[in-house]
Amino acid sequence: MTTTLITGANKGLGFETARRLIAAGHTVYVGSRDAGRGRLAAERLGARAVLLDVTDDASVAAAAKAVEADGGLDVLVNNAGIEGRTESGGVIGAAELTADRMRTLFETNVFGVVRVTHAFLPLLRRSAAPVVVNVSSGLGSMARVTAAGTPTYAYPGVAYPASKVAVNMLTVQYAKAFPELRINAVEPGFTATDLNGNTGTQSVEEGAEIIVRMALIGPDGPTGGYFDAEGPLPW
Ligand code: NAP
Repeated sequence: MTTTLITGANKGLGFETARRLIAAGHTVYVGSRDAGRGRLAAERLGARAVLLDVTDDASVAAAAKAVEADGGLDVLVNNAGIEGRTESGGVIGAAELTADRMRTLFETNVFGVVRVTHAFLPLLRRSAAPVVVNVSSGLGSMARVTAAGTPTYAYPGVAYPASKVAVNMLTVQYAKAFPELRINAVEPGFTATDLNGNTGTQSVEEGAEIIVRMALIGPDGPTGGYFDAEGPLPW
């Protein structure tokens, strides 16, 4: 039996990933920072709910303790993320960038990944086939962000792409440090969710595809890589 935790799984890509992994036979913990939203999502999915705010040390520690007491963890999907917006609803571009805005975004997208990974690593390392999927973005690709004439080049935000570059670096360095772990970064593609006011061009079914695929890899699967549904991406 494979046990999987997905952070931020009460909606969007995390919810769809939970649905698919349950269908594949996983026992899934729906991580949610709100108890009510988490419970509702878990009931709809036939999953277990765990209260987990990735920005809060105590919350993450309590979640790890609860999952450990229930029997441990095989797969961690670091999915919770925010795009970060200014008060007027725009993306945080260079002109709007402040240390505070950057810190808020990094607290969820980067320090959240570190906090959760650090707390669950002891459980994962006791699994026979531990897997971590870090939900990054194509906006975390330096190659793409510097490729003039592409939509990725045209994206004006600064803090969000910077956070996903950091997620990619975490993935590579964790992979080298823990060779027994399969840990990869994935780019779901531009997907209609609350993150982008549902302006994304893909469905959540399409967006979750690579997250699910990388959550299902076995011990002979890749590690330290960066993928979208079509294959490896340039860093
Ligand atoms: P979403 O629908 O807004 O879902 C984000 C999830 O993260 C929600 O469950 C949200 O919970 C949760 N979350 C936010 N802050 C949290 C915190 N501090 N602790 C725990 N959970 C928290 O967005 P999504 O598009 O599915 O995003 C999922 C991931 O995909 C993110 O990492 C995002 O960067 C990445 N991504 C998305 C796209 C896209 O086009 N949608 C493209 C590339 C990458 P609440 O309901 O409580 O807010």
